[in-house]
Amino acid sequence: MSIIVQKFGGTSVADSKKILAAARKAIRAQKEGNQVVMVVSAMGKNTDALIDLAKQITDEPPAREMDMLLSTGEQVSVALMAMAIHSLGHKAISLTGAQIGIMTDSIHTKARIRSISTERLREALDEGNIVIAAGFQGIDEANNITTLGRGGSDTTAVALAAALHADACEIYTDVDGVYTTDPRIVPEARQTRQISYDEMLELATAGAGVMHNRSIEFAKKFNVPVHVRSSFSDNPGTMIVRDPEAPDMPVCGAAMAKNEALVTVLGVPDRPGAALHLFSKVADKNIAMDMIVQNEGAEGHADISFTVFRDDLPATLRAVDDAVKELGAEGYTCDENVSKISVVGLGMATQPGIAGTMFRALAEKGINIQMITTSEIKISVLVAREFAQEALRAVHEAFELQSPPPDGKLHGDGSPRHATPSEAKLLARLQRMEKLIIEQIDLDETQSRVTFVSLPDIPGLAAQTFDELAEAGIVVDMIVQSVGRGNRANISVTMPQKDLENAIRIAGQQAESLGCPPPTHCPKVAKLSVFGVGMRSHTGVAARMFQSLAKEGINVELINTSEVRVNVVLDGRDGKKALAAMKKEFADAMV
Ligand code: ADP
Ligand code: ASP
Ligand code: MG
Repeated sequence: MSIIVQKFGGTSVADSKKILAAARKAIRAQKEGNQVVMVVSAMGKNTDALIDLAKQITDEPPAREMDMLLSTGEQVSVALMAMAIHSLGHKAISLTGAQIGIMTDSIHTKARIRSISTERLREALDEGNIVIAAGFQGIDEANNITTLGRGGSDTTAVALAAALHADACEIYTDVDGVYTTDPRIVPEARQTRQISYDEMLELATAGAGVMHNRSIEFAKKFNVPVHVRSSFSDNPGTMIVRDPEAPDMPVCGAAMAKNEALVTVLGVPDRPGAALHLFSKVADKNIAMDMIVQNEGAEGHADISFTVFRDDLPATLRAVDDAVKELGAEGYTCDENVSKISVVGLGMATQPGIAGTMFRALAEKGINIQMITTSEIKISVLVAREFAQEALRAVHEAFELQSPPPDGKLHGDGSPRHATPSEAKLLARLQRMEKLIIEQIDLDETQSRVTFVSLPDIPGLAAQTFDELAEAGIVVDMIVQSVGRGNRANISVTMPQKDLENAIRIAGQQAESLGCPPPTHCPKVAKLSVFGVGMRSHTGVAARMFQSLAKEGINVELINTSEVRVNVVLDGRDGKKALAAMKKEFADAMV
């Protein structure tokens, strides 16, 4: 019999009426011949209310007790949901994470799933029950209750779908599906019909709160097609799948991560191992660093900037303070009023001019870009928080995301086109649950680097630069803009070696007209990409990369990170050696 997992978010179970409506959806799916597992979140804003209560008692509640408290929210809703189904004349049983056997590690408030036992679930289903699972929670080896991080019920749902080999995973929420950006902020946003795991992963971490990013890591690992749809209608929603039928659009969505903080560590000795030391210190505190940018070193020193969630800033600064002392760095600065704006799309890797369009949209509004990082399918910029919403709107409009896609269809037939990995591969993955998976390590030796040095940090300059590069037909790959000193910033780009001369010419002309120092370049760089699942949420990945490179005495010129990749650029002569070192370092995580 087919199994279907249905997840209902907070707004979808906010009151008794809504609970009964959700119960009816599950009963209907059962009547259609499915075994049904419901995953339920805490009612309405209950989790927020519980956090609030804790904060009234103390500023720093122990994480273990936070989990004890927060897990009660979901316990209330599963019990009520089971009662609702009983009252409608059907069999149901509610289960907590512990009762199901969702085993996690012990990192309270951001625990990761280690394994799920499906025995009890299957028994209850075979007895004709609709099983109602509490989302967001699990249990560690010592029987402590853990939670998976805000929004974690999505992850419970997709993980259960994976463990049960479910035929469908439906995420019921308060919007019709995944939109080109948050429709609450940009009402013109348009619903997408299908989106790939990689795009959704990038969007989710870039701030699209509609799905918990780790749930998409699960979906990708286990090939679970996810259907995001409305609790309040029967409209077809958005399918998140491996290979969507691609509409001819370079960008599929834009997102904002509003509450970010920027930390710059100044004057880090520019030697192998220094960056590693800093990253390890932060990773040890289980804090995920986001945009990481290293400035081209001057006089044997480099400045390294990165962003973290604003909530993680106090703990981050404690780690940074230690690292600065131990490294003999100059010091650090931080800005807690920044937001990240990102655009994401599978098609952007092959089309010139995407970066220029984004930067121009911001320039036209007079919004300054403080930092830039890119991946193959994402461009992120950092702006002052006061301009974040305006920036998101401007970028959304610049890519005409409000317009219908070229095929004019808004909704698909709901049938996903996805490749099925072989059983053996799937089994190997199941044993790894939320562990880091490295799928591929690539070495690209076909690129050059040009660095625009000491550009005045004013709105519009990045846009002009990238427009000129695009006009010359140069498809730039990595773009890294560092935080400058004294309102000056460096922008480094990589591009195919055949375009180097052209790029140097453009950079040279610009330097001359602005009175900046001449550009620097490296004719042959090596770009190493480590590609996998869990690259950012596993906080130690970048640190491990640096460790293996440092051991070989290899210096890193540029870095950028995304959800699915970490890219580093090195001197071309180090490429092969670095590739070998990296393969050795990640041998245990390769599948
Ligand atoms: P739930 O409680 O059902 O898990 P969430 O509040 O976590 O619901 O997620 C749904 C919300 O996500 C929407 O109300 C919307 O405001 C927000 N959102 C952010 N980005 C997007 C996007 N790209 N598409 C759709 N919704 C988005
Ligand atoms: N109730 C939890 C939260 O609000 C988990 C979830 O809803 O996904 O974050
Ligand atoms: Mg949610």
